[in-house]
Amino acid sequence: MSEIIQAKPLVLVVEDEVALATMLRYNLEKQGFRVDEAGDGQEALTRIAEAPPDLVLLDWMLPVLSGIEVCRQIRRRPTTRDLPVIMVTARTEDQDAVRGLNTGADDYITKPFNMDALLARMRALLRRTNAVPSKGRLSFHDIDMDLASHRVQRNGRAVHLGPTEFRLLEFLIQHPRRVFSREELLDAVWGPDIHVEPRTVDVHIRRLRKSINGDGELDVVRTVRAAGYALDTEPV
Ligand code: CA
Repeated sequence: MSEIIQAKPLVLVVEDEVALATMLRYNLEKQGFRVDEAGDGQEALTRIAEAPPDLVLLDWMLPVLSGIEVCRQIRRRPTTRDLPVIMVTARTEDQDAVRGLNTGADDYITKPFNMDALLARMRALLRRTNAVPSKGRLSFHDIDMDLASHRVQRNGRAVHLGPTEFRLLEFLIQHPRRVFSREELLDAVWGPDIHVEPRTVDVHIRRLRKSINGDGELDVVRTVRAAGYALDTEPV
């Protein structure tokens, strides 16, 4: 057997809307994924135990056990702690989705979503979770970071970052769309024992923006008023 042959990633679709589950299966299989399905939260946990997937697409509103409770249980169990989870929410549940990220989902997407956008997020997440430990590569949207060679590219173009901006991007790219306060960024990037003004973060964020956002490119650093910063492609 050749080692070059890679198994198709198995995606568990947890969705109680049958039409949506069917559409997801059809599109994901067309894109080279294997698909397993669960129609409620309890069934999801059973499927995960029986056939561990490479990624879970987890609907927020589910019968029996909610998506958030399923996510909590996934994170609580040592065997599934690192399982990549993308939470799927309706627009009105968006605030909850942010809470979902804080309780353990890796990413979330809002219904109705575009299939290409979902696939991009799934692939980025699989790359992060599979490739990061061995190859040291991180990516978000059109940004790629190579930690070993300290190189950053956006849309194929080389981006030169100072060491602090590099560490800041490295941290943000590991937690896309999650909002961090200045204090949290200081702890994570500068270290908990370093005492610098929270405003220092603003300075480095400004530099990061200047380097990473080329002419006409989307600003991927989102400022959340009175809260902090996030790496995000959606301005809201
Ligand atoms: Ca639902």
